[in-house]
Amino acid sequence: MSVKSSEKLLRIMRDTALCNRCGSCAGLSEGQIVFADREGKYLPVINHALDEDLAERIYQVCSGKGVDFPLLNRYIFADEGHFHPYMGTYRQIGIAWSNHPEIRRAGSSGGILSHLLIYLLEKKEVDGVVVLGMSKEKPWLNKPFIATTPEEILSAAQSKYTISSVNEILPQIARFQGKLAYTGLPGQVQSIRLLQQRQHPFVRNVRYVVGPFYGNILHFSSIVSLLKSYSVTDYRSIRKLEFRSGEWPGATRIELDSGKVIQLKKFHANYLIPFHICKSSLYCIDFTNEFTDLSGGDAWAPAYEERGKGFSLIITRSVPGDAIFREMVEKNEISFIPLSPEEAIRMHSHGYDFKKRGAFIRIQFRKWMGRKVPEYGLQSGRFPVSRWIMEAVISLLFFILSSRPARWLSEKIPPESLGRVFEAARTFWKKSTAGIKKRKLIQP
Ligand SMILES: Cc1cc2nc3c(=O)[nH]c(=O)nc-3n(C[C@H](O)[C@H](O)[C@H](O)COP(=O)(O)OP(=O)(O)OC[C@H]3O[C@@H](n4cnc5c(N)ncnc54)[C@H](O)[C@@H]3O)c2cc1C
Repeated sequence: MSVKSSEKLLRIMRDTALCNRCGSCAGLSEGQIVFADREGKYLPVINHALDEDLAERIYQVCSGKGVDFPLLNRYIFADEGHFHPYMGTYRQIGIAWSNHPEIRRAGSSGGILSHLLIYLLEKKEVDGVVVLGMSKEKPWLNKPFIATTPEEILSAAQSKYTISSVNEILPQIARFQGKLAYTGLPGQVQSIRLLQQRQHPFVRNVRYVVGPFYGNILHFSSIVSLLKSYSVTDYRSIRKLEFRSGEWPGATRIELDSGKVIQLKKFHANYLIPFHICKSSLYCIDFTNEFTDLSGGDAWAPAYEERGKGFSLIITRSVPGDAIFREMVEKNEISFIPLSPEEAIRMHSHGYDFKKRGAFIRIQFRKWMGRKVPEYGLQSGRFPVSRWIMEAVISLLFFILSSRPARWLSEKIPPESLGRVFEAARTFWKKSTAGIKKRKLIQP
């Protein structure tokens, strides 16, 4: 007997390793699915029994079950442009930054995503932009909204590193009168693309899809834990939370009602990752947001990091995404230094290793344990035994460090000290993966 769609959906919704919290189930369910406990596990729950037809429609576009990468790639890019197994379809790759200092300063890295969204709005290519800001009522939580002015877009600039469920906003997208650009993480973008592939009426007005690169996302416990390290016990006293405050690469900055400010350099705040990582990040194989029209990450290279100011690594992918980017470069709105794929990969070798090697090995480990895994329509290439051993050690570390006692212990050590250890580990990882080869990684 075939398993009901509602049961298949529930299985994903209850599994923190599969559900990437894209939010589509809540957005499509007309209030029957909601997110509970956003400060905790942040998983969707069913309010009323789901009609099987609706459950099936949601299941079809749930990116937590996996997405057939080759099929979706063909649908979006029609086999045009270049293809790289690490980065997906691309037209141009390079370092970029906004030539408007206020946008560059507001952004996470070079301010390119915000600048492009503002440009689209000002050119009337779109009438609104889906972005992720911070909630006014609960300033410690993020909240998606449709920005219709450059000021609103800038207010939502900067990466948010705690779980977001952007596609909850689908009913608002459907009601919006006009054309839209959309910003989201890979799982969120994949689901939007699946909806577009099915010509779902909710996304008929989405014209551009952009998004950040994606290493991982953290549970809200990361913020609670960071506060505890500074002897602050109530997260509800947060007045303002930023993850990339100040000059690039920026800092996690928490402003409390009392006026107290907690600030920790980005590279040091990274120590929170193994303690609070959302498990679905470990099984996601998309580092560069492969199904966007254009995506951007940080230009991690000493030459740029030393200069501060903000530099992005940009990949243009679709014809419209590339055209608008070229136009902005020609009009001197943004600066651009082209790079070869090899140069770009060297900059993020640890990220590609994590997603294009590590994730496939972790998926295999999970399969061996008899657990459900996301299906991507791809098979990994062959990795040396040493890489399997390394992954076993990393997975064991994630397992131990995400336990309650380890989290508790981490709160007793000054975050700056833990941060320095983590920064050294990252440098070592980058060096040891700098020579990763591009071939035989993934096979359709
Ligand atoms: C969770 C996460 C993990 C990342 N991991 C990496 C990494 O490992 N390596 C790397 O090089 N870069 C990573 N990035 C991307 C990087 O932090 C910058 O977002 C990127 O360099 C673009 O910078 P920008 O100045 O052009 O963007 P900005 O001008 O700051 O615009 C960012 C846009 O993204 C939207 N946004 C921010 N956070 C989220 C979110 N959580 N969900 C959906 N939309 C969001 C904002 O609303 C805004 O519109 C990550 C980003 C996020 C959000």
